[in-house]
Amino acid sequence: MTLDTGLDDRHFMSLALEEAKKAAEINEVPIGAVIVLDNEVVASAHNLRETTQNATTHAEILAIQEACNRIGSWRLENAVLYVTLEPCPMCSGAIILSRIKRVVFGAYDPKAGCAGSLMNLLEDERFNHQCEVTSDVLGKECGEMLSTFFREIRHKKKQEKLSGNAANN
Ligand SMILES: [Zn+2]
Repeated sequence: MTLDTGLDDRHFMSLALEEAKKAAEINEVPIGAVIVLDNEVVASAHNLRETTQNATTHAEILAIQEACNRIGSWRLENAVLYVTLEPCPMCSGAIILSRIKRVVFGAYDPKAGCAGSLMNLLEDERFNHQCEVTSDVLGKECGEMLSTFFREIRHKKKQEKLSGNAANN
């Protein structure tokens, strides 16, 4: 794993952050992803778990599906995936299966991350494909977007509870 944060990486991560923002706007946990091929964005997506009521609709999965549709192949061999949060086990699996060359993520996920935090599926040499991993690109911004989102949810719930109590009195 490398911590190299080149200008291009930060640029594409900022696009993934834009996607994450779209998720927050519709009350989805703000996680965004973009897939880049030959320096061109071929897919961008954000988490849609609440909207779809489907636990598999993570940003990375949706971006992989879009990229495959766009290029007409399940092989994304030269693609780079940018995602604001470290991939979970499901997304890491999909990344390996689609043979993505490199993954760049923002914030670490100590509770589900499988690109270095809990385990490192992406760089495990026992699989038939390994993926280069670059971590902590705009990590602070990516992490703050998540913590702000959860803080606001807690605040909203507290307000609802308070106004509920007031209505009962
Ligand atoms: Zn995932």
